[in-house]
Formats: sequence, structure tokens, C-alpha cells
Amino acid sequence: EARDPGQAEFLQAVKEVLYTLIPALEAHPEFRDNGILERLVEPERQIMFRVPWEDDQGRVHVNRGYRIEFNSAIGPYKGGLRFHPSVTPSILRFLGFEQVFKNALTTLPMGGGKGGADFDPKGKSDREVMRFCQSFMTELFRHIGPDTDVPAGDIGVGGREIGYMFGQYKRLTNEFTGVLTGKGLGWGGSLIRPEATGYGSVFFAEEMLKTRGESFAGKTCAVSGSGNVAQYTVEKLHQLGAKVVSLSDSNGTVYDKDGFDEEKLDFVKELKNRRRGRIKEYADKYGAEYHGDLRPWDIPCDCAFPSATQNEITAADAETLIKNGCRLVCEGANMPSTPEAIDLFLANKVLYAPGKASNAGGVATSGLEMSQNSMRLSWGRDEVEDRLHQIMIKIHQTCADTAEEYGQPGNYMMGANISGFIRVAKAMLDQGLV
Ligand code: NDP
Repeated sequence: EARDPGQAEFLQAVKEVLYTLIPALEAHPEFRDNGILERLVEPERQIMFRVPWEDDQGRVHVNRGYRIEFNSAIGPYKGGLRFHPSVTPSILRFLGFEQVFKNALTTLPMGGGKGGADFDPKGKSDREVMRFCQSFMTELFRHIGPDTDVPAGDIGVGGREIGYMFGQYKRLTNEFTGVLTGKGLGWGGSLIRPEATGYGSVFFAEEMLKTRGESFAGKTCAVSGSGNVAQYTVEKLHQLGAKVVSLSDSNGTVYDKDGFDEEKLDFVKELKNRRRGRIKEYADKYGAEYHGDLRPWDIPCDCAFPSATQNEITAADAETLIKNGCRLVCEGANMPSTPEAIDLFLANKVLYAPGKASNAGGVATSGLEMSQNSMRLSWGRDEVEDRLHQIMIKIHQTCADTAEEYGQPGNYMMGANISGFIRVAKAMLDQGLV
């Protein structure tokens, strides 16, 4: 704490992980004695840079850009770029730290990193977003590469932004390589990458339900957010027979008692991805309830899928969810539950999936995009979805087995942290003091 004053989110993420690693450190003294933990919490490299850009009126703006290259023990740095006014070093370091374990869980060869800028894409024209992305990449390009560091999307960075950044990278390096993932299908992207995080989260939750002999048929689900992760979480839940009754954005929440179907979801995709409008429009069009509060957690549900942002489920929200009969919480977002909320879920035997396990489908499919780029071929839709499904089943099994092995059956958080840690720690030991 003395070293990283004011980095609340980073310290929150580190504390959660270190606390759950205690049984693994007792069983593996070699990880205690070689400075592994001290090295794990210190990023290998942090880059911070100026991003000047011009708006449509010719006014100059300056944002701050970052890339945190956290750990490359098992592969090139890999993790998203976030464009949001709340971006700080603390947020990106927490995300980069979590990414190291998440990527290890996928079993693919990817290290961990994260980056972004305190730029707010909301209300900006396409041309302004393009100029920002080009300026951002004009500095970032010298630090990344297909075998060095491969960024992807995150909040505020979707297909449009990846396209503008890829174009600029290509122009600066004169190379067409898989340096970014989440690319368009016509220029190196992978089928199912847009769907992957949401679908993967539902596949993970399905495995958790199976441990209690249950399925999604007839279950009522609350989802927060209405961006990439939320949209495809709703899509897969609907396909599996669940009724999803909520979506939200940073202005409010819609509550649709009848549930989202394909047509309604198409409207949300058009609204959010193309028109970049507010979720309130959905309520107006379909006569659903609209609440000005940001979170859907007071809506009665069997399963909750927080898919917007960090710390969006507080202890009070967790209490309400449990009181209303929620039995499963599956994190699509990164660190959406506060530590107090997680304690309540575990104490009340709620099936709780930490984001680093349940939202790993996104980065896993980015890994598949990298493989396809390296081989210069593309797999079909069913093949990628099947691989994603198998990866999620395996991550679930690994977390469940590890939690059991270390004496806390059903504690997926402990299972995810320990199994990710062991893979990275072994690689660090093998590679000497670096
Ligand atoms: P998007 O930008 O597509 O969507 C984010 C959604 O969350 C939007 O509806 C946004 O509302 C809402 N939101 C963002 N910040 C806040 C806030 N502070 N308060 C309330 N609502 C907010 O991002 P993604 O769907 O890609 O990411 C969502 C979460 O999933 C993040 O935590 C991200 O790190 C995580 N994640 C994403 C992966 C991916 O593949 N995309 C992979 C793994 C994790 P509004 O429209 O008003 O901005």
C-alpha cells in the first residue's frame, strides 16, 4: 500500500488473489522462497503517453494513454484496451493483474497486459474517434507486436476502434499481422470473437448449474450492462431457455418482465452498436419499466450476470439478490463484485463464478484468433464455438478440482486463483530471476 498509494482497485485485486493463495503457498514452498509473489505484483513494464487529437471544430484535446505489460512468463502480453473517462493506472493495473491469471486458466500461451486511455468515446463523431485511435496507435505501435504484446477490445473499444487502430498500425509498420484481436471478419478476425465473452460466461454458468443437477430452462436471469458482453450473454441465455429480464447502461436499467427475445435483442444491438443510443429507448419502444438507478440487482432473479463494470455489486446489492432467491452469480465483467459481496455469496452457498474464470472465453477466443492469423486460415463458426465451449468446460473443471484439492469445494474463486497462479509461477521459476 505504501508503494501504490491511492491505487484502490489494484490493491483490492491483489489482496483478493494473495489471500486465496495461502493454501497453495503452504503446499509449494518453492513459490514462497523465490520472490514469486513480489515479482507477480510488479508489472514488467508500464508505458504512459500523451495522446493529442483534434475535434471536428479544430480544437486540440490531450488524453493520457497507457499500456501495462504485466507478465510474459507464459506468452506475449495479452489483454484489452479500455477507453473510458474513469481509466487510471490503478484500474489498468488491476485489470492487467487479473488478466495474468485469467490467461493462464485458458491454457493458451498468453501473458497478461492491459491498456487504454481516459478518452470518452460517448458523443464523439466517427471522425473524432478515428483521429483519437490513430494518435493513440502512433505511440503504442512501437511497444506492441504479434509476438510481443497483442491488445484487444474492452469497455469503449469495439470493432470500430480496433479497425482504426489496426489501420494505423499497418500504415506505420508496413506489416499485416495479428497484432490486435477483435478484428473485422474480412481482415483477419475470428468468427465468434464478438460473442465469445458473453457465450463463454453462460457456458461456465451452465457447468455450475449442472453440479446441482439444474439447467437454464425456465430460469429468470438479471444481466447488467448492454454492451458487448451483456448482449451475447442475453443471446446465449435465451437460446438455452432462460428468461432475461434486465439490461442497463450508465444512465439506468430496463426491466422487461416478458424477457428479451431475438427481435428485442436485435433492437438493442442496433441501438448500442450502431446508433450508440441510451437503453432508455428500449423501454420506450417495448413498454418495459425503466429505472434511473444504474443496477438491476433489486429485480428478483434466479441467476445474475454482472456484465458492465468493476464494483457494481456491493454488499447491499448482494443481500438483496440473496433475499430475492438468487442462487447463481456469474461475472461477465471484471471484478464487478466487491469483496464484501463475494463473502456474502460464499457464506450463503450461492454459486459464484469470478470473472477471471467465467469471462475468460473472450481472451480464449482471441487466442484462437491469434492461432488462425499465424496459420493464415480461418475456422468455421461451429468449430470456433465448439472450441470455446470445450475451453469453458475445462476451465470450470480446473477451478472445481483445484478448489476441492485445496480444501474448499465449490469455491471457484480460490480454484481459479490457485490454478492460474501455479501455471504462471512454474514458468517464472523455470525462466530464472527475471
Ligand atoms: P462495452 O463498452 O461494450 O459495454 C459496457 C457496458 O457497461 C455499457 O452498457 C456501459 O454503459 C456499461 N458501463 C460501463 N461503465 C459503466 C459504469 N461506470 N457504470 C454503469 N455502467 C457502465 O464493454 P464490454 O461489454 O466489452 O465490457 C464489459 C465488462 O466486461 C468490462 O468489465 C470488461 O472489462 C469485461 N470484459 C470484456 C471482455 C470483452 O471481450 N469485451 C472480455 C472480458 C471481460 P454505457 O453504454 O452507458 O457506456
